[in-house]
Amino acid sequence: MQLVFATNNLNKLKEVQALLPPTITLLSLKDIGCTEDIPETQPTIEGNAIQKTRYVKGKYGYDCFADDTGLEVNALNGAPGVYSARYAGEQRDSNDNMSKLLNELQTQNDRTAQFKTVVALHLQDELKTFTGICEGTITKEKKGNKGFGYDPIFQPKGYTETFAEMDLELKNTIGHRGKAVKRLVDFLIFNS
Ligand code: IMP
Repeated sequence: MQLVFATNNLNKLKEVQALLPPTITLLSLKDIGCTEDIPETQPTIEGNAIQKTRYVKGKYGYDCFADDTGLEVNALNGAPGVYSARYAGEQRDSNDNMSKLLNELQTQNDRTAQFKTVVALHLQDELKTFTGICEGTITKEKKGNKGFGYDPIFQPKGYTETFAEMDLELKNTIGHRGKAVKRLVDFLIFNS
């Protein structure tokens, strides 16, 4: 089975590829000649995942899946949430985003948060979504240099390291995207 993963983030492509069985060949957006920015204008994480999937299926005709992720911080009423990528501005800089978040939490005692990923799948004429959640806390400083995005300040529940200090394999097992993709993969295996 050939499936497009509608992302331009090579880190994510690598993470998801590692979770897929060899019977499913993953194509990148570059592989299908999609070089434009795909619209992500919905007010929810789920809405954005569905919007990206519909765009690729509609314009390029491939079965595909797309993910959208947000970091929901309890003391900030779920922010940055759907705005995680551009929390500190349109330049979408991870360091700026983390610094802003650490700053916002300076006076807060509650540092609990969760990553939420929604994967939307367009397979033949069916549209399905799969959700993965990883609970944790926001650390007081950046730690580690693996991963991407908010990884250096997110410590998953039950662990003493941040995502950025963990091996990819462990992050994939306990992480939000890993859980959502596992649900996607189980569905694909069951239906192939
Ligand atoms: P996207 O929906 O995957 O584009 O992610 C939205 C924002 O969340 C971006 O700023 C990403 O850097 C961040 N993000 C997504 N997944 C992760 C992750 O696994 N770890 C840390 N940050 C992430």
